[in-house]
Amino acid sequence: MDRFQELIAEASRCLDCKHKPCVVACPAGNDIPGLMKALKKGDFSGAKALWDKTSNLPELCGALCQQEVMCEGACTLNKVKKPVKIGEVERGLALLFWGEAERPVKTIDHTHLVIGMGPAGLANAIAMAQMGYLVDAVDANPRIGGAIWNLVPPFRFDANDLSSIEVKLAKLGVRVKYNFLVGRDAALADLIDQYDSVFIAHGLDVPQLVPGFAGPDVFYAIDLLNRVRHSPVDLDRLVGKRVVIVGLGSVACDTARTIARLGRDVQIVYRRTLSEAPASPKEIAETLAEGIRIDVLLNPKTFNNGILGCERTELVKDDQAPRGRIVSVPGSNVEIACDTVIFAIGQASSDAVFAGTEIVLRPDRSPYATNDPNVFVGGDRVIKEKRIVDAMVSGIEVARLIWEECRCDLR
Ligand SMILES: Cc1cc2nc3c(=O)[nH]c(=O)nc-3n(C[C@H](O)[C@H](O)[C@H](O)COP(=O)(O)OP(=O)(O)OC[C@H]3O[C@@H](n4cnc5c(N)ncnc54)[C@H](O)[C@@H]3O)c2cc1C
Ligand code: SF4
Repeated sequence: MDRFQELIAEASRCLDCKHKPCVVACPAGNDIPGLMKALKKGDFSGAKALWDKTSNLPELCGALCQQEVMCEGACTLNKVKKPVKIGEVERGLALLFWGEAERPVKTIDHTHLVIGMGPAGLANAIAMAQMGYLVDAVDANPRIGGAIWNLVPPFRFDANDLSSIEVKLAKLGVRVKYNFLVGRDAALADLIDQYDSVFIAHGLDVPQLVPGFAGPDVFYAIDLLNRVRHSPVDLDRLVGKRVVIVGLGSVACDTARTIARLGRDVQIVYRRTLSEAPASPKEIAETLAEGIRIDVLLNPKTFNNGILGCERTELVKDDQAPRGRIVSVPGSNVEIACDTVIFAIGQASSDAVFAGTEIVLRPDRSPYATNDPNVFVGGDRVIKEKRIVDAMVSGIEVARLIWEECRCDLR
């Protein structure tokens, strides 16, 4: 079977359900049954056109969305057999239309700057350029992709897949300046003066610190993953033989698998149970398959002389805490001998990009609004679910907001 036939065969499995549970479960609201119907008929362009209405980063979403807890998890076919492989179809279609984008004939006399070319900034730049705006973009990194390029390890995402998006940006006339840090290479206030509108999607750049843990053998996961991209040799020198990772999200799993591949003995501890973990069942299964132990209902309290002192926890029902409230089990101390402890319990934003300005977020107006009507903020910095698809949706929504608010003239 060639690639076209494979896509048609997979799409033909779709039942075209009346209530469209997959659409409801997709944070972008992609018309999955509609595009499967088009694919069944061999109408690849029609399928792409439907996808383009709600999504513009199929290269990233197809590869890295947690489909098994989103669209595929909701697919009716789960009741009888395997769900439609929606993620694979999305990736297949992205490959088929690799780098394809068309600049509109008419442009809009409105300049727009995107700061940060992670999923939110990319989605915004593409959507704005497709509507005809004159778009410039800057990023502190030497490549697009944000956390996907910088932190997701190569065994989970092939950075070459970013080339398709880079080609699209070029075709759409988006001019990207790399290695450009706003705050160092230009002041945000000056950029706001130069452009008609600005979208800031600077992501989460600092780890959530854990008080009481410090020292040369205590690390934060995003700092270490950064080194994998920039200087892998360092990582090998930094971590000891027995490594404990605290947390059970995507970042924890990626860090554990990266370090296990250096030949270390890796264990994850998590204070809730597997079913409450932010990592998807697939990520957890892949982590376990690499020989990494996962111990749940354990909360680290101290790390001294190579011993991580933990307390056992249990979850009690609490109306204020939907995932249950964590309580310590009295007298339940557990000691784990290890050389290195790595925290992967979440990230925050330094907001250094706003330095020297009066810009503040105005969530009372919209999730993306600031006190300057021409400046918007999107992506992980403001959205609840820290996922690629939600970051993409925020970028597209801001493009629509600007279109509605500016009522720009086509020229
Ligand atoms: C290890 C890891 C694994 C993940 N795995 C998944 C997954 O499997 N599935 C999933 O859906 N999500 C995953 N995520 C989450 C996902 O990567 C984020 O939700 C998403 O990247 C957020 O996009 P963003 O555009 O808001 O920010 P980011 O991707 O963080 O991009 C922000 C960009 O802004 C740039 N920037 C910041 N400050 C400045 C400045 N002052 N000047 C210029 N540029 C600046 C940065 O260089 C960066 O490129 C993972 C995250 C990590 C860290
Ligand atoms: S739930 Fe599954 S079978 Fe039903 S429309 Fe969506 S993809 Fe098709």
